[in-house]
Amino acid sequence: MNYVSTRGAGAGERHSFSDILLGGLAKDGGLYLPREYPRVTAEELARWRTLSYADLAFEVLAKFADDIAHDDLRALTRRTYTAQTYCNVRDGEDAARITPLRQLGIENGTPLALLELSNGPTLAFKDMAMQLLGNLFEYTLARTGETLNILGATSGDTGSAAEYAMRGKAGVRVFMLSPHGKMSAFQTAQMYSLQDPNIFNLAVEGVFDDCQDIVKAVSNDHAFKAKHKIGTVNSINWARVVAQVVYYFAGYFAATKSNDERVSFTVPSGNFGNVCAGHIARMMGLPIEQLVVATNENDVLDEFFRTGVYRVRKAAETWHTSSPSMDISKASNFERFVYDLLGRDPARVVQLFRDVEEKGGFDLAASGDFVRVREFGFVSGRSTHADRIATIRDVFSRYETMIDTHTADGVKVAREHLQPGVPMIVLETAQPVKFGETIREALQREPQRPAAFVGLEALPQRFDVLPADAQRVKDFIAAHTGE
Ligand SMILES: *Cc1c(COP(=O)(O)O)cnc(C)c1O
Repeated sequence: MNYVSTRGAGAGERHSFSDILLGGLAKDGGLYLPREYPRVTAEELARWRTLSYADLAFEVLAKFADDIAHDDLRALTRRTYTAQTYCNVRDGEDAARITPLRQLGIENGTPLALLELSNGPTLAFKDMAMQLLGNLFEYTLARTGETLNILGATSGDTGSAAEYAMRGKAGVRVFMLSPHGKMSAFQTAQMYSLQDPNIFNLAVEGVFDDCQDIVKAVSNDHAFKAKHKIGTVNSINWARVVAQVVYYFAGYFAATKSNDERVSFTVPSGNFGNVCAGHIARMMGLPIEQLVVATNENDVLDEFFRTGVYRVRKAAETWHTSSPSMDISKASNFERFVYDLLGRDPARVVQLFRDVEEKGGFDLAASGDFVRVREFGFVSGRSTHADRIATIRDVFSRYETMIDTHTADGVKVAREHLQPGVPMIVLETAQPVKFGETIREALQREPQRPAAFVGLEALPQRFDVLPADAQRVKDFIAAHTGE
């Protein structure tokens, strides 16, 4: 399998899966995609239906990571997708299923279900990909004898998923910046209670944007970056996207009896990484009817899928909402879909994303391209805080199921796109305990807390406080990387 950049540079070069695993953007600023999507045959789809999650992950990944020996890859997926790691299931559920499908009920003649993706160590769907990434990094670094220092900024979900994936991994260190005193007690405890010597929590005296600016400043110092082998694990990482393709297959098999049926998925979306994986599963031939993009008040993506206008928001128009992991001003993976939508024409992608830089967006409404959005199965909707509260209450009273704020955005929008006879699967992207304040507002009770998290906030915490100063962060990294 050869990978190409959405912006077309270096089209003659060969990039394997392992080549792009540790990198971020392509050199021309584009995102990597396979030269063509692998197709799934009817015979494969029939065989895959009965596989365990780990073996299904092997089959899907083997199509994209054909430069990793099959035995090694299978060992990696079996080590990653275990009942021990994905143990935070609801009472009575089978952790060995990794992503249990929870039927809610029949609405408008259509089965409505949740695909639980948040039973991993940090209770958010980011564990699904990040846990695999941890094992892939360790495997790849061991083969080349290299080390990697991951630098990131987090306001919650991504940072903790990365830390829990990389803890104790040989050859990897994590330096994670978070705004000092600005995260919830639960999120703070989740990250800062890690005692692994390869994990460094840097509590920055500032806000999340200061943390992000420091990461950018350090990354722009190319000499420092090369010397200290700095890498990232952000949402554009290709291996993360591919790992997410697997659960669309798992969800499809759980919701259907035969491979003649079609299903739709609703995906609570921010950076378009999760639903991009759904798009890829559909391009591989999985019988997906619709991909429903659900946003919160930060509705960049909903606006595009309704009107054809992509308009990046300014900081002052980016709202802090009660589904904070979807609070984005632009969607960093969106370029991958635009590339496919435009018939894989890199020259046009370059032009459009130049317009994003210079004019803040682009408009595909007038061109013939936008109508093709429906051929790709995409529709969308948005949700507000009031919708979230109403949906959390409704799902709890009707189905005795407590859902988190992001999943509530998904259920709200899914209900606007039900089609008779086509099962609708909403991806559950986090557990309610991570967003306790909104749960208490909606239900006047405490969120359910998996057993492993009882007493989390009382554990000893390990972190270093630093001023919002890139040089001080560089000094800290240099002092802790032994160079
Ligand atoms: C990251 C995240 C999302 C958004 O996913 P994208 O891949 O960025 O679209 C939604 N819900 C939760 C809980 C998340 O952590």
